[in-house]
Amino acid sequence: MKKSVLILLLLTSAFAATSKKKPAVAVAPEAIPAMRVAMNTVNPQNIRTHVQFLSSDLLEGRGTGQRGGDIAAAYIATQFALDGLKPAGDNGSYMQRVPMVGIATDPSSTVTLTMSGKPSPLRLNDDIVAMDESQSATSDIDAPLVYVGYGIIAPEYKWNDYKGLDVKGKVLLMLVNEPPSDDDNFFKGRALTYYGRWTYKYEEAARLGAAGVILIHQPEMASYGWDVVRNSWGGERAYIRNDSAPKLKLASWVQYDVAQRIAATIGKSADDLIRMANSRDFKPVALPVEIKAHMISKIRPFDSNNVVAELTGSDDKLKTQAVLYSAHYDHLGIRPGVPGDNIYNGAVDNATGCGILLEIARGFASAPEPPSRSILFAAVTGEEQGLLGSDYLSRHLPIPAGKITLALNFDGIRPDGIPETVELSGVERTNYFLTAVATAKEFGLEIKPDSNPGAGHYYRSDHFSFAHVGIPAFSVQEGLKYKGHPLEWGVQREEDYDEHRYHQPSDEFDPTWDFSGLAEISRFGIELGWKAASQEDLIQWLPNDEFDTIRKASEQTK
Ligand SMILES: [Zn+2]
Repeated sequence: MKKSVLILLLLTSAFAATSKKKPAVAVAPEAIPAMRVAMNTVNPQNIRTHVQFLSSDLLEGRGTGQRGGDIAAAYIATQFALDGLKPAGDNGSYMQRVPMVGIATDPSSTVTLTMSGKPSPLRLNDDIVAMDESQSATSDIDAPLVYVGYGIIAPEYKWNDYKGLDVKGKVLLMLVNEPPSDDDNFFKGRALTYYGRWTYKYEEAARLGAAGVILIHQPEMASYGWDVVRNSWGGERAYIRNDSAPKLKLASWVQYDVAQRIAATIGKSADDLIRMANSRDFKPVALPVEIKAHMISKIRPFDSNNVVAELTGSDDKLKTQAVLYSAHYDHLGIRPGVPGDNIYNGAVDNATGCGILLEIARGFASAPEPPSRSILFAAVTGEEQGLLGSDYLSRHLPIPAGKITLALNFDGIRPDGIPETVELSGVERTNYFLTAVATAKEFGLEIKPDSNPGAGHYYRSDHFSFAHVGIPAFSVQEGLKYKGHPLEWGVQREEDYDEHRYHQPSDEFDPTWDFSGLAEISRFGIELGWKAASQEDLIQWLPNDEFDTIRKASEQTK
């Protein structure tokens, strides 16, 4: 048994032992009838209607920076207005403009490694994928290459791959993932922490002033093949425009055999490089390799919008604090010129989350009195481009991060009937866990831990953008056990979706779908958020959690 599962069980039974004596959460009793009104307002038929419209061909797949995406945003803003919610976007509107830029590496760009004095040009897309993230039309790099292992600085695990190395202007060769471990107190055991994600590696290297990063692609370590890397880096990628964060001129991945050739310059193999990196005593290795790159990029500036509304809280003091609900409205859009069905309707991903968000918003707005704290509703853009809308929102919140007690996200929830299990990945890391367990129980729901923590799903969905600024945040996702069906049925439904519909034009509305489960998830979401908005204290990450320090710091900033 994994330690985290054991802790989960202990906490659950600890709750069972005390539950008879007193309620797990202090919600003013007079607030409960209003919450019940909000929950009873939820109607599965409304969710069906939103999903049907948002996923229709007319919406052209709700692409970021495409007409269909903008129509979806306007539709959601209209719903918020009909609910009587307050606009919380720019200049008294529901729209928060998110400035974006599309960057595509021109095929005439060149990257050459000079290994032990011998130049060796790399083939774009076959040997290397490379992106100039500095948003310049051209950039030149002429720099030494340094191997920095995993490229991680994690004081809480007493781990530092840089060991004070001055990396200014240099290009860093590094591994994805993190040091392997079965110890839950060391990089969370087999679960992936944020330190293992490539996004972290680029961010950290850029912060330290490096000119570029070359990630070694090793299929098992990345958990996907070179095809996936080539597909997602070979075309245009969207970024926040003129982002103030430092950026790399060369953000790249190389195939494993390129790493072999580089390792050979110091008489080692790529596997040796990995072994060296697995030690706490690892020191950066200056390689006898020079890298020359001439990056030419096509830059396409455009704007997209987050749609943000607010319900002001009823308590004079607490209304300056909030609970945040979110769902991304964007999907992959339309691919003109592609024969056959070229509209990525995104019915499950994520018209369903939008339907839930809209019905939760209507529920709150229908209550005779709002809860003590304010409630923010955000339909965010650019999730499929790398959590761009939620990332931007997390840094431009209408209520500061340190005053947001909880963020709940909804993404890709299949209308397969009434769920009997629910995943709230991350909730066990907060002091809201017992309340979540008790609330789930009221709905006949059992909270299940993340079924595959090693894949790092926690860091791949919008709630992560909010956790990144310290807010206790998680996605509400159905588990696989549905009422009236054996577990295997749910497993099969998921496999069928993953294989035949996920991120394909066939993720379309199906009139036979049963929306009663999405209504249950909405009511569950209302109760979770209402209680969080009513309890005395702001919710916290457990001490020593990777987001705890940033949470504490965010509460100091006014
Ligand atoms: Zn999604």
